[in-house]
Amino acid sequence: MDMIRIWHELDIKEIDDHIIIVDDLHGFCPACKTTGIKFGEMDKCPGCKREFKYAATRESGSAGSKIIAKIIKNSPQLTIVEYSDYKHHTDKNKAASLFGNL
Ligand SMILES: [Zn+2]
Repeated sequence: MDMIRIWHELDIKEIDDHIIIVDDLHGFCPACKTTGIKFGEMDKCPGCKREFKYAATRESGSAGSKIIAKIIKNSPQLTIVEYSDYKHHTDKNKAASLFGNL
């Protein structure tokens, strides 16, 4: 199966609250920093119990594609988002809230 990236308008806060980052053989919860979350167990964080709805990988190229294929196979309920898009928006929001607090 070939993969195509699709653009959607989404609430970045909703993604931020329900994302798992998958870089190699395991997932990482950015909220509580739990690492080692296995494929097939990516419904809920074992640490903070947040529900995962989105996944992203910081890997690019063929390594990234392999990880994404593995996520789709093992956790088809997760929506895969492009990490650079996610990072761009969360960084922008962090900067805005930082300057808003001055
Ligand atoms: Zn967690």
